Amino acid sequence: MSIRTSLLELKAALPSTVTLVAVSKFHPLEAIQEAYETGQRVFGESRVQELVEKQRLLPSDIEWHLIGHLQTNKVKQVVPFISLIHSVDSLKVLQEINKEAARIGRVVPCLLQVHIADEESKFGFSPEACIDLVSSGQLLDYRNVSIRGLMGMATFTDDRAQVEREFKSLKQLFDTLKQTHFPSDPTFSVLSMGMSDDYPLAVQTGSTMVRVGSLIFGNRTY
Ligand SMILES: *Cc1c(COP(=O)(O)O)cnc(C)c1O
Repeated sequence: MSIRTSLLELKAALPSTVTLVAVSKFHPLEAIQEAYETGQRVFGESRVQELVEKQRLLPSDIEWHLIGHLQTNKVKQVVPFISLIHSVDSLKVLQEINKEAARIGRVVPCLLQVHIADEESKFGFSPEACIDLVSSGQLLDYRNVSIRGLMGMATFTDDRAQVEREFKSLKQLFDTLKQTHFPSDPTFSVLSMGMSDDYPLAVQTGSTMVRVGSLIFGNRTY
């Protein structure tokens, strides 16, 4: 199926309230161009170098999202143009984003990445650490980042019940934080969860933003 057809089918399947991030990592410029010509404007990349190169060469009205782990020494490269960083997984990286953003006079929208999967390798705050961080009030000191919500990845498994449990736990954490710390902040509104294999379940569970790659662009060749 062409990128155009896959994208149109996916868009038709998603509620209009859910934002689609087209994950273009490892795919060439032409693939992104085809999606762009189909009307897609939000793209996600997971590696800084690839993101920066693509951003330089592609239309300037693309909203680039960073979805992969961000090392502090690379923060400087993305802060000038990034629309949303999904992968804030430590206070250290948040501080660095804030510092760079302040230096150039931007406020950078960010999500806190929460570890919900039953896997060691994935980055993110534990739900407890996330609550502690938000409750501590420290985030208020970082005036050049805007915390828009949470991001999480479910375990890579065929066990639907497990994936559903994990998504529900993230949704619950989001709702709790919203009620306790962001009740009057309409910008705390993003729950980024769901990928090619599990986005329907994520949407049912309350996702407001899905990150879909292979379903649009085909398999990645690394
Ligand atoms: C690669 C990636 C995706 C997209 O995965 P697909 O299975 O290709 O849809 C989504 N989120 C993150 C964090 C990723 O690294």
